Amino acid sequence: MAQPTYLIVGASLAGAKAAEALRAGGFDGRIVLLGQEQEAPYERPPLSKGYLMGKQDRETIFVHPSQWYTDNAIDLRLGITATALDPSGRTVTVSTGETVGYDKLLLATGASPRRLPVPGADLDGVLYLRSVQDSERIKDTFRHASRIAFVGGGWIGLEAAAAAREAGVEATVLERGELPLGRVLGPQIAQVFADLHREHGVDLRVSAHVSEILDRGGGKAAGVTLADGSVIEADAVVVGIGAAANTALAADAGLQVDIGVVVDAALRTSQPDIYAAGDVASAFHPLLGKHIRVEHWANALHQPEVAARSMLGEQASYDRVPYFFTDQYDLGMEYAGHAEPGSYDDVVVRGDLERREFIAFWLANGRVLAGMNVNIWDVNDAIQRLVRSGGTVERAALADPDVPLDQLIPA
Ligand code: NAP
Repeated sequence: MAQPTYLIVGASLAGAKAAEALRAGGFDGRIVLLGQEQEAPYERPPLSKGYLMGKQDRETIFVHPSQWYTDNAIDLRLGITATALDPSGRTVTVSTGETVGYDKLLLATGASPRRLPVPGADLDGVLYLRSVQDSERIKDTFRHASRIAFVGGGWIGLEAAAAAREAGVEATVLERGELPLGRVLGPQIAQVFADLHREHGVDLRVSAHVSEILDRGGGKAAGVTLADGSVIEADAVVVGIGAAANTALAADAGLQVDIGVVVDAALRTSQPDIYAAGDVASAFHPLLGKHIRVEHWANALHQPEVAARSMLGEQASYDRVPYFFTDQYDLGMEYAGHAEPGSYDDVVVRGDLERREFIAFWLANGRVLAGMNVNIWDVNDAIQRLVRSGGTVERAALADPDVPLDQLIPA
């Protein structure tokens, strides 16, 4: 009998980790890993942090050394786009025109940056940050630019602005809300990030709506115009206004799609033998009791193991507490949990906001939905246990640094 083929679309962190987990789980059939980029799978966090700042070498970003794919008989095909999926025929058509058959399929197609919908957005020097090439282009821009405008005060905008400042480049961050990260963190904690950036010389403008990218001739971006008529001159414009899941392949094939490819807790899509993991997966989360799509590294790192176990016919469920981290200047933080805007009714701070050494907790009805440790370490596991417990905690004890977090976890 022919060996079964497990096809993974997306040679990303999620795709590479799925291949690894399939082999670790004893699968000895054929594994084909298709990647649109020319690069072997790599990790993205360094692209807006250490690698962008020139502190991390290129070799360190890759998920596995290239020899690993050969040693593990992974058929890694790069520079190939999956263009069509036929679930009934169990085939994927790719950009070379070839058709690849599969017995089981994992969609790890990721997400793409949202494009800025204003005149001038196609000019040279309007940059996005998603791929390693994007990161290299921005790093290169740091060498000759004297000012860069960052559109969007989200994770990309802030991390990249911090990298620009460290490279000695003037940075203007344009956030359309009242505070950078305001929607994610709420006003009190978002203010910490606003202060941090201003103290590091960032010209942070809030309620700033970009209406146009300036063209001073030559087809090259020369800054931005805001809706209030003000003009910010810049040598380049970096846009970080969020990302959208790459769902077209799944949607065109009739799979259930919402803001991502809809999967259950075992990461199975609405079609038999098709699974999804990473940024693209809108996964039912047993702890939260609803579907969530998480665009962070830890999700792409850990979901594939569950997807692989499901593909191998095991019972598996992805219920990790969502986690992410950031590093900006001398601020390092980790965030665990899921506190959507409007879902919490209280924010409790343990520690010192002004010194930027604290843990913030987001609560609903006395239960901790999420916690974020800033410049305080070795506490995130306890925060995750607290979130997972789902029990009510006493506010005063939560705010008191002398009460160990584990003591607050209801028995
Ligand atoms: P993001 O974190 O979602 O932030 C997007 C920012 O752009 C928000 O402040 C948003 O404001 C604003 N925005 C949205 N549409 C806009 C528009 N038309 N004009 C101006 N501003 C607009 O997204 P990102 O920074 O682009 O990052 C992309 C993805 O990579 C995200 O999923 C992010 O989580 C991930 N990432 C994560 C990390 C990390 O975990 N440390 C680092 C880098 C990237 P509103 O809030 O008002 O919509």
